[in-house]
Amino acid sequence: MIQDIKGMHHVTSMAGDANVNDAFFTKALGLRRVKKTVNFDAPEVYHLYYGDEVGTPGSVMTTFPFGQMPNGRRGAGEVGVTEFAVPKGSLGFWTEHLQAQGVTGLAEDSAFGEARLSFDGPHGDGLALVESDGRDRTAWTGNGIDNDVGVLGFRGARFVLQDAAATGELLEFMGYQKADTQDNLTRYVVEGGNAADTIDLAEIPDARAAGQGAGSVHHIAFAVEDRAAQLRVRDALLDTGYQVTPVIDRDYFWAIYFRTPGGVLFEIATNEPGFDRDEDTAHLGEALKLPTRYERLRAQIEGNLPTINA
Ligand code: ZN
Repeated sequence: MIQDIKGMHHVTSMAGDANVNDAFFTKALGLRRVKKTVNFDAPEVYHLYYGDEVGTPGSVMTTFPFGQMPNGRRGAGEVGVTEFAVPKGSLGFWTEHLQAQGVTGLAEDSAFGEARLSFDGPHGDGLALVESDGRDRTAWTGNGIDNDVGVLGFRGARFVLQDAAATGELLEFMGYQKADTQDNLTRYVVEGGNAADTIDLAEIPDARAAGQGAGSVHHIAFAVEDRAAQLRVRDALLDTGYQVTPVIDRDYFWAIYFRTPGGVLFEIATNEPGFDRDEDTAHLGEALKLPTRYERLRAQIEGNLPTINA
């Protein structure tokens, strides 16, 4: 069994308009934009990263804003809900704040004893705030969001699957333990991980398949400490029969990817080197950063990207 996975690292979603996307995550949710770069595989599209002050692994929401892309269709075989942690007692504030920001689909419920506020993201994304202690995390503040209510990184993620069995087995192989069940939900928790340590599987046998588009999660990344740990995980997955990519340099972390039995694309990402490797913490996310191989194309790339008015 794998023992190197420390919870979530980041979640990456497809998106529509870059300014709508940026305004939602920075102003409505109050996250910090910690990196403005391009999709390394398609440099005509931004890759925007939002998180806490430094983009701590387990706090980082990332998006590919494709512009005119139609919204996806929520369904089975995807990360249905990306869940952020917020301080206990803060959901009243968030309901008012998100309503004032024009956010739709607001609904309160609870799961596994935690109060939740679900809502639609900027392109129909499935998002929720979950009251949780967040442990040692600190919220990014500003835009009317103070320390006592601010987002404390991810709580976890909820997958929607027609059949949860194979994905549950995979999570257990990855070091997660089945912790609890409630209705059609099964909660998996990784011990000794970061605060983004839960994955809930929602089994809905007759759910129609999700259709990818803006607002769909493209992949979910799990955190490992360093490249040595990543290679151990890669070997273990290969030995079990998973088709895993080679290690890919994403400038701010190293990545491997593999497709899971339920249809969700998984990534394993390193905590090293982090988002402050090429700009000061005080100015994270302000300048357009490009991987070295695209620097010679900077003028052309910048000319093709929309201006973000933040
Ligand atoms: Zn990723």
